[in-house]
Amino acid sequence: EGRVNTSLKDRQTECPPPEPDSLMDGDVTFQLFINNQFQDAVSGRTFPTINPATGEIICQVSEADQVDVDKAVKAARDAFRLGSPWRRMDASHRGLLLNRLADAIERDAAYLAELETLDNGKPYAVSYSVDVPNVVKCLRYYGGWADKWEGKTIPIDGDFFCYTRHEPIGVCGQIIPWNFPLLMLAWKLGPALATGNTVVVKVAEQTPLTALYIASLIREVGFPEGVVNILPGMGPSAGAAIAKHMDVDKVAFTGSTEVGHLIQQASGSSNLKKVTLELGGKSPNIILSDANLEDAVEQSHFALFFNQGQCCCAGSRTFVQAKIYDEFVERSVERARRRVVGDPFDMKTEQGPQVDQEQFNKILGYISSGKREGAKLMCGGGVAADRGYFIQPTVFGDVQDNMTIAREEIFGPVMQILKFDSLEEVVTRANDTKYGLAAAVFTKDIDKAHYVSQGLRAGTVWINCYDVFGAQAPFGGYKASGNGRELGEYGLDNYTEVKTVTTKVPQKNS
Ligand code: NAD
Ligand code: MG
Repeated sequence: EGRVNTSLKDRQTECPPPEPDSLMDGDVTFQLFINNQFQDAVSGRTFPTINPATGEIICQVSEADQVDVDKAVKAARDAFRLGSPWRRMDASHRGLLLNRLADAIERDAAYLAELETLDNGKPYAVSYSVDVPNVVKCLRYYGGWADKWEGKTIPIDGDFFCYTRHEPIGVCGQIIPWNFPLLMLAWKLGPALATGNTVVVKVAEQTPLTALYIASLIREVGFPEGVVNILPGMGPSAGAAIAKHMDVDKVAFTGSTEVGHLIQQASGSSNLKKVTLELGGKSPNIILSDANLEDAVEQSHFALFFNQGQCCCAGSRTFVQAKIYDEFVERSVERARRRVVGDPFDMKTEQGPQVDQEQFNKILGYISSGKREGAKLMCGGGVAADRGYFIQPTVFGDVQDNMTIAREEIFGPVMQILKFDSLEEVVTRANDTKYGLAAAVFTKDIDKAHYVSQGLRAGTVWINCYDVFGAQAPFGGYKASGNGRELGEYGLDNYTEVKTVTTKVPQKNS
């Protein structure tokens, strides 16, 4: 509990066996979810979603466009009108609905985990034991907040009574990525619904399936019509329509820094909607020479390779102190060679395929650039299967700060190991990036741990651990890694307008 479970053995005993063959039995269609109704896109268009383990089409999904976004925003606006069931609902009941949604997800955990693995390629054992339970925890956590998010009474000067109300922002557009399709949905829905907003979610085109199943649960547990609308569709059409919409009050985006710029610009050139962004990273993971080497090697491996390397906070610059550098590299290579790549429904698999052909090509391109620019390829570097988007666990040693693989987000199973001498040096080099999402330091010396963690310009710093998340603790970026924080109490701020109400009173007394 409380620590990400990196032990494959534990996971294998936790999960019921998957039955991927029966997943798509029957007449499954995945349509837009607007006003609690599943419906075709106005255009009638659909797009295929692909199983990344085989490259084969799983099914067709309705493709939302600008007109569908307009419909969904109207539904969300209507659900937010004064006197609507949602606006009149007790805050405690909003919390109850979030808890009922969590209950339904727990009931259907095995199915959701299978669907997530089929569409995304992540190992089923991970979907079942990491993704789904964290979705449930996030929704329950925010369900608890719904009736505890309090304003203040404020002693202003004069004969006045002054208080603040924490009000919902209104209609929130939420655009999410494909690396944690269910979990990113929960991070968006939890705080938005706890605080009484209505939402239009645009799911990633690579992984639309699980969110649409969640839509059916949202209707089942009794959320009023129009509170949650879920649209599969493309970024430049449906996503952009949300970002520039004149009747969307806020947009929350998770994805690439490149698109983050576009979202912020769309706000600036439309209605100045509030914008929160959770973008990329090139997170430094710093190993001091006094660290427990075995643990540091395992955690650094996990920091980079978890989720096929497709994590915004991946520890993708592993800085190792000179004295232990050679041994660390040797052990890391040995660990990467042991990493089990294969069928994501096989319980022994640690690493499935990359999400799609585009990411697959992009990662192979970065591996070529690493070789070209003179980094030392220690293992991997190639394709790992004759179909699907599998890439060998790859380790580069002798990486220099100015190499492309040390500067850009690779988002794949490619580890960069860099050597350093002093603490001052490594903090400066770690901060020499446009990003600032996460960082870690491994050491037994608490003074050094604090020196490094205070010096790093990053929204999260892990000490002697990596990728430890809790719904209770905020997450987000400095610099080009984003704006705002998700999770925890801080996450509520980004879905709240603060209203100051001041009343003239006959006579104030202290
Ligand atoms: P992306 O930013 O294009 O996609 C994320 C979401 O944004 C998707 O829902 C997509 O449809 C939408 N989107 C795309 N263009 C849009 C636009 N113009 N307006 C509005 N929405 C738009 O990411 P990608 O192309 O799937 O991946 C590219 C790179 O982004 C990856 O290699 C990785 O480096 C990074 N990435 C980061 C995260 C993260 O968790 N921060 C997640 C996915 C990808
Ligand atoms: Mg893109």
